[in-house]
Amino acid sequence: MQQPSIDTIVIGSGIGGLTVAGLLAKSGRRVLVLERHDRAGGYAHGFKRKKYHFDAGVHLTSGCTDQGYKGGQLIAKTLQALDVYEQVEFIEISPFAHVSLPELMISLPLSIEQFIKQVSDEFPGQEIGLRSFLELSLNLTEQVAKADEVIATMGIEKASIELALLFKYRRFTLADAWEDYSFDPQLKSVLAALWPYLGLPPEKVSFVYWVSMFIGYLVDGAYYCKGGFQTLADALVMGLKKSAGEIRFKSQVTKIQVLDNQVQGVYLASGEFISAQTVISNVDMRQTVHDLVGDDYFPKRYLSRLSRMQASQSIFVVYIATSLDIKQAGVKHEAFYYNECDHLKNYNNSMSGDLSWLSITAPTLIDETLAPNGEHLLMLTTLANFSQVDDWKKEKPGFVEKMIDFADSKITGLKAHLLFVEAGSPATMERYTLNHQGAAYGWDVTPEQTGALRIANKSPIQGLYYAGHWTAPGGGVYGVTYSGVQTAQSILGLTKRDDLWAACS
Ligand SMILES: Cc1cc2nc3c(=O)[nH]c(=O)nc-3n(C[C@H](O)[C@H](O)[C@H](O)COP(=O)(O)OP(=O)(O)OC[C@H]3O[C@@H](n4cnc5c(N)ncnc54)[C@H](O)[C@@H]3O)c2cc1C
Repeated sequence: MQQPSIDTIVIGSGIGGLTVAGLLAKSGRRVLVLERHDRAGGYAHGFKRKKYHFDAGVHLTSGCTDQGYKGGQLIAKTLQALDVYEQVEFIEISPFAHVSLPELMISLPLSIEQFIKQVSDEFPGQEIGLRSFLELSLNLTEQVAKADEVIATMGIEKASIELALLFKYRRFTLADAWEDYSFDPQLKSVLAALWPYLGLPPEKVSFVYWVSMFIGYLVDGAYYCKGGFQTLADALVMGLKKSAGEIRFKSQVTKIQVLDNQVQGVYLASGEFISAQTVISNVDMRQTVHDLVGDDYFPKRYLSRLSRMQASQSIFVVYIATSLDIKQAGVKHEAFYYNECDHLKNYNNSMSGDLSWLSITAPTLIDETLAPNGEHLLMLTTLANFSQVDDWKKEKPGFVEKMIDFADSKITGLKAHLLFVEAGSPATMERYTLNHQGAAYGWDVTPEQTGALRIANKSPIQGLYYAGHWTAPGGGVYGVTYSGVQTAQSILGLTKRDDLWAACS
């Protein structure tokens, strides 16, 4: 059945898809979101087992309040634009992470000043270097936040002066940026301890993208959504509906119809055709290009570029409910346990299936509504290489055991107090979201695949756009929110971010 009133379809209800959908609906577009799962959120969705509410993946994000660096706070601004900010209670997490290295345990507090104090107490003599590095990081982050607008309004030549830091560091890895500093190796290990949030160690991750994530947490804050991240997805859905937008669940798109290089609409698995002149794909980019549209519709150069892109690795998660008094046992909300200081080794171990690190998240320490009184939830998370295992179903129990043994070696008594255990392997991540091989963050955020080198939000086909972690700027909840904002601006032809907020007011 045709629905001529719809002008914009968003395929997928990940946070990136919901952001662009809500903003376009608020600006007056007739928007329909089509989601194959039975709920919104993609990797940010939550699920219930027995008396427990688990997050499928996401632990925390930044950018949720009005406080922060210039150009940040995009999650808060989006929710405010959609009139649903009050629907989510953001709980600030400080210290936002704890890092355990073979010879050091350190907490990472929010705010640059407190971070410098805490870290230089452990590394006397490194304060000046650390301060200078964090000042550079903050200035660079602010340049990243305004880059698109500056380039569009000033042109590339003037922009290269205004954005001198960005132009200087755009091809650097984090390890390259450290070359100018004589940091102690253990200090580097602390600074880079959040590398799993981007899925790449310092030697591979884009400095510019790492800086945005790191400063995002230090300055824009680290937050959990009370009730789980499903509440963030649900608030975005509510915002969409407030502006007469619609969402349909259990609605898998199987084809994007293109005629004369212009999008015409989409077909659902049921055979239904829905017409729209604008389609935004929030799903795996190879699915969009190869399966939903078809190679014949794209220029050869575009396809060849796509074939060279490297996807991020996946993640293995163990979801646990425990009767252990985890506060008493010294468990923190988010802790990274590394048996190696060298994160490249930790990354390579993950790629070959060896476990030398994991993160342990205890959401019930900040939101006790997720489990009954006296019980706690834990998520054990590590990066995993989909291709390293032939049959994830067969290997899953072995992985779970290994991870629980590792966690038990850090939390005394855990194994004796398990009430519930379930796991998500890379195959589970793929099954629920159709991200190829369960890629956790879209394309890897290497210097070769970020900034202008990432596949842009606008495709070569008229009316076909992308939002989410397969397009610019990159992965993570904040990154995909940014991408949704950017795609909305592109569709509405608004160069300036403030014009978008005005169009949505
Ligand atoms: C285990 C794990 C933990 C993570 N933890 C964090 C964290 O703590 N903080 C953080 O910032 N980031 C985290 N990330 C990364 C972050 O979750 C993702 O980068 C981000 O949520 C991706 O959002 P997205 O908008 O790209 O869409 P996705 O979340 O990838 O969602 C895509 C949606 O599209 C739907 N879909 C797919 N194909 C179709 C189709 N043909 N038709 C209709 N619908 C379709 C899927 O069902 C899905 O709902 C984590 C990732 C994982 C895997």
